Amino acid sequence: QDGEVQKAQRAAKASEEPGQRPPTIFSKIIDRSIRADILYEDDKCLAFRDVAPQAPVHFLVIPKCPIPRLSCVATGDAELLGHLLLVASQMAKVEGLVDGYRVVINDGKQGAQSVYHLHLHVLGGRQMGWPPG
Ligand code: ADP
Repeated sequence: QDGEVQKAQRAAKASEEPGQRPPTIFSKIIDRSIRADILYEDDKCLAFRDVAPQAPVHFLVIPKCPIPRLSCVATGDAELLGHLLLVASQMAKVEGLVDGYRVVINDGKQGAQSVYHLHLHVLGGRQMGWPPG
């Protein structure tokens, strides 16, 4: 699924952020070496509640393969990226977010990304503001 060239390109890109090479804490959630409140799992992704929720409902959807950040994705990731959005939408329904919600991807330093394993934040259950900080 994740070709050698893609892996090498991702590692090079990820290493632009010091100390942020995979594996991250999310790899440990995937392999169950640390606990998380897991809402959904399939062969390609995992959804679990954020440990520091910023809204009444706040969960993350992550790919199982360790893509560090959105700016590392390649054409071959299109299907996986679509799948992550579909799971976000389905889990938002399961979580009862009938009045809407927000999906956020933080990329890199200026995007305020802190965990360098690609993740979609799904936030809901309150009125969101715009623009975000
Ligand atoms: P930020 O920390 O600025 O929100 P990210 O977009 O990288 O940047 O988000 C990482 C998210 O991962 C945070 O919302 C954080 O609360 C969450 N998180 C970190 N560790 C865990 C964990 N062990 N279980 C669940 N969520 C976690």
